[in-house]
Amino acid sequence: MRATAYGGFGEKGRTSIAVSTEGFTLLLDCGVNTSDSKTYYPALNPAECAGLDAMLISHAHEDHIAAVGWAVAHGFRGRLLMTRETRAEAPAIWKAYAPEPEYRHAMSLPVELIPAHGVFHLGPFRVETGRSGHIVGGVWVHLASAGRSVLYCGDVVPSSAVFPMDPLPVAGLVMLDGSYGEDDVSGEMRFASIRQYLGRNPACILPTPLIGRSLEMLALVEQPPALAPGMLEGLLRQLDQVDWLRPGIAAGLRDRLALTIEWQPDQPWPDRPLLCHDGMGLSGPSVQILERAGREGYPVLFTGHVPSGSPGDRLMQKGAAHWLRFPTHPTLSENRDIAFACRAGRVLAHSCAAGVLSAFARSIDNLVVDIRPRGSIEI
Ligand SMILES: [Zn+2]
Repeated sequence: MRATAYGGFGEKGRTSIAVSTEGFTLLLDCGVNTSDSKTYYPALNPAECAGLDAMLISHAHEDHIAAVGWAVAHGFRGRLLMTRETRAEAPAIWKAYAPEPEYRHAMSLPVELIPAHGVFHLGPFRVETGRSGHIVGGVWVHLASAGRSVLYCGDVVPSSAVFPMDPLPVAGLVMLDGSYGEDDVSGEMRFASIRQYLGRNPACILPTPLIGRSLEMLALVEQPPALAPGMLEGLLRQLDQVDWLRPGIAAGLRDRLALTIEWQPDQPWPDRPLLCHDGMGLSGPSVQILERAGREGYPVLFTGHVPSGSPGDRLMQKGAAHWLRFPTHPTLSENRDIAFACRAGRVLAHSCAAGVLSAFARSIDNLVVDIRPRGSIEI
């Protein structure tokens, strides 16, 4: 069995890695890199796109799914698999982060639905999935064949207050979500910092992806927030997915949602925090809202990944916005626990820059630090 990286290793964005055995190649995720137009798409050539037997998408964030249509345009004709909930969110991501022809290509592919938590077979692989704790519809993926196994975490959150994460199986090779590198600050401390900011800035803008962090923000913000156009529907859709939420959490969040107000961009700023999507000003209502906030000097708090060169990044460079991490990926301790619990013989980490990986290796045993796009490893 062999794993070949095509994006997201030694860099953040365009996450995609192929796992091959017995002449069958499965691509795990197919994302874009919003930080760099030169490496926007995975490093697959057309022959490699055409040679993929299947593609399995872990969740509907652009750095894991937005290059599906691009792969079709470059020859991909294999099977496409994802959960029902990821399928429901995929068109919006393809629309926002892929040009129109790629959007149409992606939409033209039939999708095979996979379980949130279960086992199925794909070519020579026994595939096991489990909920990732990161977003409704998001899964980790475990592949096994002929006594070899690999666990791809995708994006995981072991300690989300809103989304549950299923226990991870043992694997020979584990691919961790390295988005936060060496960061080991607990979620509680992060949330306390955000609450303090909101105490000082009771009316401000909180950009967030439409799904995932948005629901966790609703749970965190003490005063029921104002919602940009489309946000209410996004939050309601997630609250309908009770199998993806921690037990008992939906009713409380639904009550809180009933107290929010829907806000329109032509209105004066609301007297409370405003949730708007996306989280970086590249698509959705955030484009216009952040442009106006920059012009008027209105407070903005970013809480997730803000790619360099994005509108969010430009606001921060000017000192016109703040950033505090809202944890939606594992801390260093959580990753160390995952690698230990899975008894990983070798470990890779995706979604972090090369320099961060070397530092990360000081704390994670058996971490392979030198794999880059187009590099591969025997399992
Ligand atoms: Zn994600």
